[in-house]
Amino acid sequence: FIKETNSIQYTTVAKFPPVKLLPNSERKRILVTGGAGFVGSHLVDRLMLLGHEVTVLDNFFTGSRTTVSHWVGHPNFEMVRHDVVNPFLIEVDQIYHLACPASPPHYQYNAVKTIKTSFMGTLNMLGLAKRTKARFLITSTSEVYGDPEEHPQREEYWGHVNCIGPRACYDEGKRVAETLTYGYQRQDGVDVRVARIFNTFGPRMNPYDGRVVSNFIIQALKGEDMTVYGDGSQTRSFQFVHDLIDGLILLMNGDETRPTNIGSAHEFTILEFAEAVRDIVEKVQKEEGIANPKRVGIIHKDLPQDDPQRRRADTARAQESLQWQPQWSVRQGVEEMTRYYYRQLLEGKI
Ligand code: NAD
Ligand code: UDP
Ligand code: UDP
Repeated sequence: FIKETNSIQYTTVAKFPPVKLLPNSERKRILVTGGAGFVGSHLVDRLMLLGHEVTVLDNFFTGSRTTVSHWVGHPNFEMVRHDVVNPFLIEVDQIYHLACPASPPHYQYNAVKTIKTSFMGTLNMLGLAKRTKARFLITSTSEVYGDPEEHPQREEYWGHVNCIGPRACYDEGKRVAETLTYGYQRQDGVDVRVARIFNTFGPRMNPYDGRVVSNFIIQALKGEDMTVYGDGSQTRSFQFVHDLIDGLILLMNGDETRPTNIGSAHEFTILEFAEAVRDIVEKVQKEEGIANPKRVGIIHKDLPQDDPQRRRADTARAQESLQWQPQWSVRQGVEEMTRYYYRQLLEGKI
């Protein structure tokens, strides 16, 4: 049935959340590669709620069907198992190209495959954008700045990447993906957008993918020592996933065609972050009725090779071009994610 709220029309199909009812002229056919991953699944939710037709393309390497299974059967939704390394034919208006593993243990697991995904996958999706005249957005990364010598990182900074190190498959893969993207823009007039995403966290992040936020929360919830790599003086700035999704949708639908940082400007040392996460997890455990949660220890492990020493987003461009501002504090986001993992652990799902 159809219902009307504040003059916006929504359409409801039994068992699905109500999605906005868009006139045909506004409803877009949108391809989300990597749509079954952490960021992709949140983007799919938002695009579905906004009333678009969404096709997810994923090979389920690091993503899972379950992240978007709540949309299976909805008339606006389709999921295709496909590897972006191979050509793909579909008619669409917009392409959000996310497909690529993002956590260091995952992208280093098969480095050559990671490079193929970034290079051949992006080539194919740009070929598709060229043929269909779809607007193309790629999720690039702050890793294009490598271990930066400029701080914070502005989009004009060219970066400092070790092209033969263990992280190179990802960093150089994304750099060449950006090069391809602007090559297609110049040569073929493809309408492109480039988001350089900084560390992002939130529910549905694979709890065991090895990234720092999921590691720390899961370790603290299980009463295990938290593992800080090196002395913990390296820094990162963490944004909550809903802020990233706002930024990606604004970028896709705005006029800014230059690379645009989307990330938090709130910088933590990793040791400070471990301490903050420990406090937040204890607070959530108390709220969940655990009277005296165990105070976990913090231990140090070897710092991985080429681990960037400092990282913080300069977001002036996103603020000016997209009027984008993060709405979530790190504390709110970590609390939300902790509650999510807490429930998942209780239900034996993780
Ligand atoms: P993720 O690993 O959860 O999701 C990646 C998705 O891509 C998964 O569903 C995976 O199965 C799929 N995929 C991987 N290789 C594929 C292939 N060859 N063909 C088809 N599908 C493939 O990672 P995420 O955190 O959701 O990251 C999504 C995108 O955002 C990536 O492009 C990543 O580089 C970028 N990014 C993420 C962050 C972050 O902090 N999460 C930071 C910077 C950039
Ligand atoms: N491609 C694709 N889907 C399409 C159009 C192209 O996957 O709808 C792939 C195509 O197979 C090629 C790549 O995109 O590998 C680049 O296409 P383009 O047309 O730019 O180059 P060409 O095919 O001329 O090499
Ligand atoms: N890190 C850590 N403990 C962990 C996982 C990661 O101290 O259990 C550190 C890691 O060395 C890096 C930072 O946290 O300095 C962020 O790591 P992550 O893998 O999340 O992302 P990236 O290095 O790609 O920014």
